[in-house]
Amino acid sequence: LIKVEEIHKVFDDSLHALNGVSEEIQKGEVVVIVGPSGSGKSTFLRSLNLLEVPTSGHIYFEGVDITGKQTDIDRHRQKMGMVFQHFNLFPHKTILENITLAPIKLLKKSREEAEKEGMQLLRKVGLEEKAGSYPSQLSGGQKQRIAIVRSLAMNPDVMLFDEPTSALDPEMVGEVLELMKQLAHDGMTMVVVTHEMGFAKEVATRVLFMDQGQVKEQGTPDEFFGNPRDPRLKEFLSKIL
Ligand code: ATP
Ligand code: MG
Repeated sequence: LIKVEEIHKVFDDSLHALNGVSEEIQKGEVVVIVGPSGSGKSTFLRSLNLLEVPTSGHIYFEGVDITGKQTDIDRHRQKMGMVFQHFNLFPHKTILENITLAPIKLLKKSREEAEKEGMQLLRKVGLEEKAGSYPSQLSGGQKQRIAIVRSLAMNPDVMLFDEPTSALDPEMVGEVLELMKQLAHDGMTMVVVTHEMGFAKEVATRVLFMDQGQVKEQGTPDEFFGNPRDPRLKEFLSKIL
């Protein structure tokens, strides 16, 4: 689904945030990325939909080189949902409006159709009674679940998550992880940067360790947590587990 070839990202002519990353993400995989702060996790994730443009290297999405000059990135981006730490819902729009905005505008759906699908998604996550509420009337966990639903309304082929639970109060983390588990279970392809090792162990098909702009080690959760080899990974795990 996504193929990354030897990407580098240099900020301000000197800061090497990505230092030659090559990865392939297959349909249906749940890839969890862990690593110390500043190791390039967000830069890598943001490169996948060109929110960061790699300094060199290629990224292929569904066979198309999206790093190529003539690519219509907006069209490809519609197929990649992205959820950040902060939910960025439109504060002056209702929950249902937040969800239907992009499908109406970008997918040219009728309001009726978009609202019908939006309500279905809300029902699926148990938040249909919030359709007419405004973001400020929701808890952090509810807002983040709506942010996920908003991405899903675009019917993406892959969902990218950058620390989706790090800004939440601890008691709200579970409901967001639960929704992500459900998505994984339904077969969604996901790339997830997170510090939630329980989620990685339970849900990931593959875990990557990033350090200094490179993927230093990767494996199934069993291999990765049970038999880490890279010394920096061992040190990292000993600090967080
Ligand atoms: P964290 O766990 O703290 O989120 P991270 O692994 O996501 O860290 P990145 O945000 O990818 O790390 O950053 C990698 C490096 O690139 C860091 O040294 C960071 O300071 C730098 N960097 C990231 N974005 C920019 C930017 N827009 N301009 C300059 N430097 C940047
Ligand atoms: Mg980050």
